[in-house]
Amino acid sequence: MPPRGHCSHDVYSHSFAVMLVSRSLFFLVFSQKWMKERFLSFLILLVFVSSSAAFFYSARMRRARPFERIIFVTIDTLRRDHLGFYGWPRDTAPFLASLARSGVVFDNAYSAISHTAPSHATIFTSLYPFEHGVLRNHDRLNRKHLTLQAVLQRTGLETVALPAVNFLEGKVGFDQLPTETDHSEAAELSRRYWFRTAEDQVSRAIHWLENGRTQDEFFLWLHFYDPHQWKKIGRLPERYVEQMRDSGNPEQIRAHALRHGSVAEDHFGGAAEFTSVLDNYDARIRYVDDQLRRFYDAVQRMGLGKDTLWVFTSDHGEGLGDHRYEGHGEFLYEEQLQIPLLFHSDRWRGQAVRLHDLIRTVDLLPTLSELAGFDTSLLPSFLRGVSFSQLVIQDEASPEDLPRYSLSQRRPKDDARLRRSWEEGPIYGIQTVDAKLIDHAHAADERYDLRADPGETENLIEAPGPEEEALRSELNSILDGLRDRTSQEEGKAGEALTSDQLEELRSLGYL
Ligand SMILES: [Zn+2]
Repeated sequence: MPPRGHCSHDVYSHSFAVMLVSRSLFFLVFSQKWMKERFLSFLILLVFVSSSAAFFYSARMRRARPFERIIFVTIDTLRRDHLGFYGWPRDTAPFLASLARSGVVFDNAYSAISHTAPSHATIFTSLYPFEHGVLRNHDRLNRKHLTLQAVLQRTGLETVALPAVNFLEGKVGFDQLPTETDHSEAAELSRRYWFRTAEDQVSRAIHWLENGRTQDEFFLWLHFYDPHQWKKIGRLPERYVEQMRDSGNPEQIRAHALRHGSVAEDHFGGAAEFTSVLDNYDARIRYVDDQLRRFYDAVQRMGLGKDTLWVFTSDHGEGLGDHRYEGHGEFLYEEQLQIPLLFHSDRWRGQAVRLHDLIRTVDLLPTLSELAGFDTSLLPSFLRGVSFSQLVIQDEASPEDLPRYSLSQRRPKDDARLRRSWEEGPIYGIQTVDAKLIDHAHAADERYDLRADPGETENLIEAPGPEEEALRSELNSILDGLRDRTSQEEGKAGEALTSDQLEELRSLGYL
């Protein structure tokens, strides 16, 4: 089990009291002549020891944080259900599975949008996409928004961003890019393509750890893009696809993929075609997993493994023919919104912790801030997320205000304007782990019982119940005051902060 948290403030009070008492005793004794000689040596020793203790403990207080380093990994387009520790019947990620065996695994983590830049901006601002305004790749976040990077820098952590694609560089709220000094052939090749492979990304990260960082306490965001490219043959060692072809029982894998009524096999035109899609996608996950193992080993070799928190997640999932759709962004079904979420620390020993609480990407900013030692009461009130750090460190006290609902929205039309079937108007989803309501601007709404129908095959909107009322009321309360759907879809709502938000940021010292 992961260890329970500790309170550094008690340590500080204790050391301060020891120092005061010892110094008072010193002056009292020196006022009595007869005691002076006899106790001189003893008192010098006492003062030395107590002052040293006070210094040592107060230094600890200043540095005290649950973890000295956080390595935050986003694996783009990684469906939760294609990892073995989430039930996939093929060994796509043996390294991550080995970390999960003594880590904390969240079974119900959800993205707010299945589109890369908007989802990362939500992770780094704790705001929904229609609020932060990054609704498309290449959109740039308004500089006034409070970001995870700004919060972490207040804790004294050095921060660095290593995105694998250029449209995440300096645009989504985490922009402390390393100075590129790696001129190896692999790095040069990587710059010529529009994304960096996992191998290049890990080499960059190792290079930064060895040559770029200035201290041992840091937050590193490392992004991998490879699973996003499952339709493209290039840039992946061919042996990975062969390895997946030879791995596991194809019948069992197909049956598992289709178990909730998916029409993916019909969509791709047969069993052989569908199997090939699964092999291609899984091969890229396995490739990233091998590179993560290489990076983890390098961190251990550098002596940085201890007191490091590892966090692995994704920005969104992927449609692999489910609901007759390949890709992400257009729909709000589970295969696109469910994301893996795994925390690991070398300090933790023993059995895995599995948690079923509803966790959202908006919750990551407060949670990671708290795990970096930040007092979350200093976060502005308009952030959407809540910290679930107590679940991660398995503290005695459970968080009081864990979310009950997760909100999602579709990306705007422009990226896919050539897709003729693209439905007009914004689409929002609101859900618990058991039920989901999808609100369409110009088409019939959808409602699903996720417990009975996890594949979302039967729309229950014609059979309204109290559950639907609760979902709709929560959706309306989140969108309250922002009912201008056009401005939401164009990201206008998030382009400028309100005067109240700016005032709050100013009063907390962020501006
Ligand atoms: Zn993405």
